Amino acid sequence: TTFLDLGLQEPITRALIDLGYEKPTVIQEKAIPQIISSDTDLKAFAQTGTGKTAAFSLPIIELADQTNSNVQAIILSPTRELAVQIGKNIEDFTKYLPNLKVTTVYGGSNIDEQIRKLKRGVQIVVGTPGRTVDLINRRALKLGNVKWLVLDEADEMLNMGFKDELDKVLDATPDSKQTLLFSATFPREVESIARNYMTQPVEITS
Ligand code: AMP
Repeated sequence: TTFLDLGLQEPITRALIDLGYEKPTVIQEKAIPQIISSDTDLKAFAQTGTGKTAAFSLPIIELADQTNSNVQAIILSPTRELAVQIGKNIEDFTKYLPNLKVTTVYGGSNIDEQIRKLKRGVQIVVGTPGRTVDLINRRALKLGNVKWLVLDEADEMLNMGFKDELDKVLDATPDSKQTLLFSATFPREVESIARNYMTQPVEITS
């Protein structure tokens, strides 16, 4: 299987070749065509190192509307380091799609600069839970047009005490969105988020 077989357009597959991604990993082979072809929610068992970042990012990049500068995807990640890494990956994946913009928001960094970047218009936002809620409260981040919500490392986010922040972000997004939940483990708290916020999710493993 190639990335082209999974339904990704040439500007994306060309960027993947530049990055040295020769063939999809297991989770990518399962998640990419699933997300491209269906708006059903998705629950994915995946650890770091499985290629999960590309598994959720590439279908969003494929489907995002470059002609519309509303936020269409919000990706939540537990730490600043992980959020920055995801943002960098998405920049690499979109190098041949110049109208598709991503910005990363996280605490401990100048919020005004992040607000300025959001104002310029971005389709994909990657954020840590606390800063994301802060930007929603300041009306600098509007999630009313979101089509995809990704909870990356959902177990870690809940371990770190971000339950209230997740609830707030989930409540700020439209019911019609597709929720993609990635987690290495599925303790009670993660299952409860899945139960409360997802509709009959498809389950995949890496
Ligand atoms: P992740 O699990 O998303 O943190 O990815 C783990 C590492 O594998 C990262 O360094 C990615 O850049 C790399 N990677 C992801 N998918 C592929 C692929 N299909 N081929 C080669 N490397 C990949």
